[in-house]
Amino acid sequence: MQVPLLDLRAQYAPLKAEILKAVEEICDSQRFILGPAVESFEKDLVAYCRSEGAVGVTSGSDALIIALMAEGIGAGDEVITTPFTFFATVGAIVRVGATPVFADIDPVTFNIDPAEIEKKITPRTKAIIPVHLFGQCADMDPIMAIAKEHNLFVIEDACQAIGAEYKGRRAGSIGRYGAFSFFPSKNLGCFGDGGAVTCDSKELEALLKIYRNHGQSKTYIHEYVGGNFRIDALQARILEIKLKHLDSWSVARQANADHYAQLFADAGLGDKIVLPQKASYDVRHIYNQYCIRVKDGKRDALKNYLAENNVGCAIYYPLSLHLQECFKSLGGKVGDYPVCEEATGEVLALPIFGECTAAEREYVVGTIKNFYK
Ligand SMILES: *Cc1c(COP(=O)(O)O)cnc(C)c1O
Repeated sequence: MQVPLLDLRAQYAPLKAEILKAVEEICDSQRFILGPAVESFEKDLVAYCRSEGAVGVTSGSDALIIALMAEGIGAGDEVITTPFTFFATVGAIVRVGATPVFADIDPVTFNIDPAEIEKKITPRTKAIIPVHLFGQCADMDPIMAIAKEHNLFVIEDACQAIGAEYKGRRAGSIGRYGAFSFFPSKNLGCFGDGGAVTCDSKELEALLKIYRNHGQSKTYIHEYVGGNFRIDALQARILEIKLKHLDSWSVARQANADHYAQLFADAGLGDKIVLPQKASYDVRHIYNQYCIRVKDGKRDALKNYLAENNVGCAIYYPLSLHLQECFKSLGGKVGDYPVCEEATGEVLALPIFGECTAAEREYVVGTIKNFYK
């Protein structure tokens, strides 16, 4: 048997006719940048995320950058975030000229630990970027309380968490901004790069739209220096069609996670593997990834064994960001973020995509059981 980490073809098949028709309509119109298709998708996204505004942009990375730009974040400013995330979260902070400051993570959820944020606040701190890693929300109540107390704003990096909920509230509707990615492997993926920023007011939405188009408030009148962060109409139409199915895909991922829990319990691997755990607070986990922790230094050996047996798996992420070569000048050293560093040595993502079959999951867990024989 062969089990890929992710296979989007089965998801595409039933939507193919509808999507190709929509693509044909856009091609016939020859209207490719912004326009009614983008506006229509943005409306749907506001409704789905239960935010006040949403602006389609070029990628999740640019969603983070545009939010920082709209707040005027730059040289001399500090932004607190997690060292356990995709590179773009921290890259965005550096790209606008600000300084990233890391706060260690919670070992259960892998998300930024609010108690650690508190310790990192200085007079230069301007913002906090919690990441809802793997599809489970960070503990937003204490994070928002810290932000309020210190007059900071919050950008939720919800790139892996569209539709995730924290105490009944949708990811991207809690902070001032939410950043979303529609990279194909995200739970809502387009056919290329794409992203969106949600925000908590119509005023901010209008400002983000100006920044998205080179800071242009009227034709050739530039109020700010923004950038070309425009999403295209083809992606917006594809996303609008796919968004209608997102909840059913999330439910399938949750069911797959429950099935894994059952299979691992039956396999009796409890002392060797720690399964993804739900937070102690109320969450809707949408399982962008299903990351187990492999104990006793066996992660890399298990990863190789799974690959040899045709099971797709991946390490998100193998290196804490404070130890990346390009952030050397920030002075991070081994041991600075022990909870994160332990996680980078143990995590392993297994296939969780909605169309993955029960037999495939049984094969995945059976292969892991064989590894320990
Ligand atoms: C994917 C991702 C991004 C970047 O999104 P792109 O669309 O690839 O630019 C940022 N943050 C996190 C946590 C992500 O998973």
